[in-house]
Amino acid sequence: MSNHLPLSNHMFIRFPNVSSNVSVARVAAATFASFREFSISDIEEIKVAVSEAVSNAVLHAYQDSQGIIEVTMENLGEGIQITVRDYGKGIEDVAKARQPGFTTMPEHMGLGFTFMESFMDELHVESQAGSGTTVRMVKKA
Ligand code: ATP
Ligand code: MG
Repeated sequence: MSNHLPLSNHMFIRFPNVSSNVSVARVAAATFASFREFSISDIEEIKVAVSEAVSNAVLHAYQDSQGIIEVTMENLGEGIQITVRDYGKGIEDVAKARQPGFTTMPEHMGLGFTFMESFMDELHVESQAGSGTTVRMVKKA
C-alpha cells in the first residue's frame, strides 16, 4: 500500500444513530488518518475527537427517535478534515455548549467539545435549532 494517496482522497459514511456505530466511525477515521504523516498520539487524538462528535450526534441530536449521522473524511494538503453532521434538534447556543463542563445531561461531564477543541487544530460548530448540527474538525499532519 502506498503512503502517498492522492490529495483528492475522501470518504463518506452514513449511518443511523446507533451507539455501536461510534466505534465504527472512530476506526474508520483512524484508518483514514493512518495514511498521512500522523504520529501514534495524533491518531489517538483523532479517535477521541471523532468519538466525541459522533457520540454527541447519537446522544443529543435525536432524543429517542431514529436519525441519520454522516461522517465525511477528506485529505487536505495540510492534514485531514473530518465533518460529523446530524439532522436533529440542533444547539440553541453553540458558544455556551462549547464551554467546558456545560451539559444538558446531568450524568455527563460536558467535556466533549473541550476534547475536540484541544485534540484537533480547528473546530467549527454550526448548528440551527430544529435542523441539525455540523461539527468540522481539521488535524494538521
Ligand atoms: P460528555 O461529552 O462529556 O459526555 P456532553 O455531551 O454533555 O458530555 P459536550 O460534548 O461538550 O458535553 O456537549 C455539550 C452539550 O452540547 C450537550 O450536553 C448537548 O446539550 C449539546 N450538544 C452537543 N452536540 C450536540 C448535537 N449534535 N445535537 C444537539 N445537541 C448537542
Ligand atoms: Mg459529548
